[in-house]
Amino acid sequence: MNYKEALQHNIFKIISQSAKELNLDSYVIGGFVRDYLLNRGTAKDIDIVAIGDGINLAKQVAKNLPNKPQVQVFKTYGTAMLHYDGIEIEFVGARKESYSEDSRNPVVENGTLKDDQNRRDFTINALALNLNESHFGELLDPFNGVQDLQEKIIRTPLDPDITYCDDPLRMMRAIRFSAQLKFTIEKDSLNSIAKNCHRINIITNERIVVELNKILESDKPSNGFILLEETGLLEYILPELTALKGIDEIEGQRHKDNFYHTLEVVDNISKNTSDLWLRWAALLHDIGKAPTKKFSKKVGWTFHGHEFKGSKMVYHLFKRLKMPLNDKMKFVQKMVFMSSRPIVLANDEVTDSAVRRLVFDAGEYVDDLMTLCEADITTKNSIKFNKYHNNFKIVREKIIEVEERDHVRNFQSPITGEEIMTTFNLKPSKEIGIIKEAIKEAILEGDIPNEYEAAFRFMLNEGERLGLKVNKEQSDKETK
Ligand code: ATP
Repeated sequence: MNYKEALQHNIFKIISQSAKELNLDSYVIGGFVRDYLLNRGTAKDIDIVAIGDGINLAKQVAKNLPNKPQVQVFKTYGTAMLHYDGIEIEFVGARKESYSEDSRNPVVENGTLKDDQNRRDFTINALALNLNESHFGELLDPFNGVQDLQEKIIRTPLDPDITYCDDPLRMMRAIRFSAQLKFTIEKDSLNSIAKNCHRINIITNERIVVELNKILESDKPSNGFILLEETGLLEYILPELTALKGIDEIEGQRHKDNFYHTLEVVDNISKNTSDLWLRWAALLHDIGKAPTKKFSKKVGWTFHGHEFKGSKMVYHLFKRLKMPLNDKMKFVQKMVFMSSRPIVLANDEVTDSAVRRLVFDAGEYVDDLMTLCEADITTKNSIKFNKYHNNFKIVREKIIEVEERDHVRNFQSPITGEEIMTTFNLKPSKEIGIIKEAIKEAILEGDIPNEYEAAFRFMLNEGERLGLKVNKEQSDKETK
């Protein structure tokens, strides 16, 4: 088969010409070919294999390109990279790899194109297009990758035990591709992942998180997480989630399976947001339930304080996985911590002051929190389902109303501590905190509007109640 039409970008002609000048063969391989055949849009990454020195080829290509881009050389890996026309192009010499037990870094020798295709992870990633002038665009598909693309199958080129044992990251990649492309992992491959799952321990957390993020970013992340769970990988990567599995029953009282509930919530939220961190929040929103689970005869199963516990666990989980401990982590913590707040509102009558408190506490993230809580409605009872959704609709409307009127989203007290000190001639003291808190409470309760005049009067009353004397100048100000 010839796929010249995939190689219309002028970069391919330039690579072909450069390889000819160096007297070597070159091929485009991997993701670019796969995504072209799957119609997945224009690629931002191109992988080139040279039968010979890939680094030299990269340098020759750079010389022949009009903008003479810089070549980044990765000596240890024998690869080189350059950017052209917004595309990242990576060059490697064809290689044969042999692996040892305890490392995913192989011993490398020069090899043929076939050797190089053998070391690829999946048949659909081993497809190559010839860039040599005489065979330009010809497909090289030694493992029937095209058929696997058509049948939507993830299969390894070699015995899966070898492929996965050599580089256990491929187990994560198999599941990630299955989730992204909605492909099925071939049976022997799946069994092999289950058999080799413990080997994931030799993979760095950073690499694991890259794949986890891609699974979370797919249309229906539960497909990936179910595979991670079934193969045993999840237990190694996110034991906090597998701890949520199962339904306990005591004296006829059962709780729901919080693992499958969580996956439903992640799928629900993925229909409404592509924000990776909000999806992480959905994935982790119930992790505090395993360590807080209790049974009491009176009330049945409880998970008291699971939101607080869960938010603390988020920090440890991010730290363990070497994820960023920055404002993204704090956002996830906040979502987990507040994840039950709007639900209380959905059960009861929605009062203005409850909504004001919600907006005050969630601040700029109140919309994200509502999105999370709506996704959290997984009840199969349609009456309850409609009731909760309706109440959340009312909450959302009230949020807008309260926001327009009271501006509490990024609440700044209308009265500063400074002003309290001058009004009552105070040095820094606990009274200032008491008055500030009282003003905030009065605003949130709706006793006074979020305005300066009202807050000032409230402050004077509060001061009087505490037995404080008003500074002369300030009382003049009040009488005016
Ligand atoms: P995506 O861009 O969606 O991540 P990709 O397949 O292009 O998909 P890359 O990580 O850029 O992913 O890899 C490029 C190619 O390199 C792959 O198509 C595959 O042929 C090969 N490859 C990448 N990682 C591995 C691996 N761990 N083992 C074997 N081959 C791999």
